[in-house]
Amino acid sequence: MRRSLALVTVLAGLSAAPALAIDIHGHRGARGLLPENTLPAFREAIALGVDILELDTGMTSDGVVVVLHDTGLSPDLTRIGGAWIDAPMLVRAMTHAELQGADVGRIRPGSKTAERFPDQTPVDGTPVPTLAEVLSLATAEGAPGLRFNIETKLSPLKPDDTADPETFAKAVVAVIRDAGVADRAIVQSFDWRTLAVVKRIAPEIRTSYLTAERNWLNNVQAGRPGASPWLGGLDIDDVGGSVPRAIASLKGDIWSPYYRDVTAEEVKEAQALGIEVHVWTVNDAAQMKELAEMGVDGIITDYPNVAIDAVRRGQ
Ligand code: MG
Repeated sequence: MRRSLALVTVLAGLSAAPALAIDIHGHRGARGLLPENTLPAFREAIALGVDILELDTGMTSDGVVVVLHDTGLSPDLTRIGGAWIDAPMLVRAMTHAELQGADVGRIRPGSKTAERFPDQTPVDGTPVPTLAEVLSLATAEGAPGLRFNIETKLSPLKPDDTADPETFAKAVVAVIRDAGVADRAIVQSFDWRTLAVVKRIAPEIRTSYLTAERNWLNNVQAGRPGASPWLGGLDIDDVGGSVPRAIASLKGDIWSPYYRDVTAEEVKEAQALGIEVHVWTVNDAAQMKELAEMGVDGIITDYPNVAIDAVRRGQ
């Protein structure tokens, strides 16, 4: 009797404590520290001890899956032949060989991006990596348990800027399978159409449903007539406006909301449906601790060093 009471006490204590194992994702590698979505940033994130590398993908005109955030090379990040480009250049319109001529190893001085990441150390002469190169880092850097959170970057509002969802998802799945990391890969997207393709053709790969409900991006569109074009035909109001219920209906694995959008009740609702909650993009130690106490399963951050100090060492 005494023993079972002790057990109850221990369990009660556990349920009040922060989650025991929060996954730390290095956002675009370690964007606060080194050039985003580059091999130096991914290597640094691995060295710091992240659980998961978060990265973004696009496709070149010759079908190579490459790692960068925007559908076009960014004027804030890109030099060609030593000169800053003055307008975005669509990756879809470039061959992989052409893309290799771009240097994305430094933020343009004086730009808004430079203001946001004053501590980023440049690595001049750094090209856009392929997805295959990044996936090979787990072996190359001696981190066999490393996982990958791979975002398909496309928009239902700009279909001409990228490959179509079917082509894009198939190409990403092929690279993941070739690298032998399907059991350690997540495919994530704001555009849930690609996740439906992954579910269909690669049920062994986990899927993560990104959301933002903000004035700068709202892919959920609760309370509006009809389905949001981002959700692959699903109308959130048909599931009571609940993103966790929407993801459960699609047999998804993870909900990845903007961290200011999510409440403790929604975290519990998702987890009760068997869905993990991984929030983005959290760079402040106090906010990380708050979210950990809320019980989130993962934190996506530009500063994995801060997250590891704030969250993991406190566990
Ligand atoms: Mg991303």
